[in-house]
Amino acid sequence: MNIVSQIIDKTSNLESGCFFPGYSGNISNCSEGYLLITSSGSNISKLSKKDFVFFRCSEQSFQLKRRGGGQEPSSESPLHIKTYQKTGPGFIVHSHPEYSVVISQKRDSLKLRSEGARDLIGKEIEIIPEITAGSIDLAEEVSNYLKNNEVALVRNHGLFVKSINIERACKLTELVERNAKQIYLESVIDS
Ligand SMILES: [Zn+2]
Repeated sequence: MNIVSQIIDKTSNLESGCFFPGYSGNISNCSEGYLLITSSGSNISKLSKKDFVFFRCSEQSFQLKRRGGGQEPSSESPLHIKTYQKTGPGFIVHSHPEYSVVISQKRDSLKLRSEGARDLIGKEIEIIPEITAGSIDLAEEVSNYLKNNEVALVRNHGLFVKSINIERACKLTELVERNAKQIYLESVIDS
């Protein structure tokens, strides 16, 4: 299966209202120095071939592509590019999952309780302070964090997962959100 088909197949399982509200979020792959990324405003849960933009994985190529007309690459492209430059090829899934975002507003870390999540990610995820979406500062902070971690959670924004394959990136995204939902529901019952 080619890379576009793999991405379409795996992301179709992530419910758009929960993970990508209002046509938000973005997905990319980097291999052999090229970036494949969703265009601005794509519906990630219902992607088709025409939603992808392809260019060299560099800031300069992103700016050229942006000015060149046609499909506009995601505004978070600089973050994806910086992450691949620092960590090597793979896949990035960026989502805005509702429970993870709510928890990020109230805590400094998200504790992972399920065995599956602990095995794959670790005991907890540190929450990165809020930084303007699409900014170079956010790109710098998240790409540095992803050098040593597979999952970054930015306060009041969302999740960035960088993995070696798309299946794993989607799975980790779901696991984190399921944990956040559990913590949220328990806090409601306890209050
Ligand atoms: Zn975002």
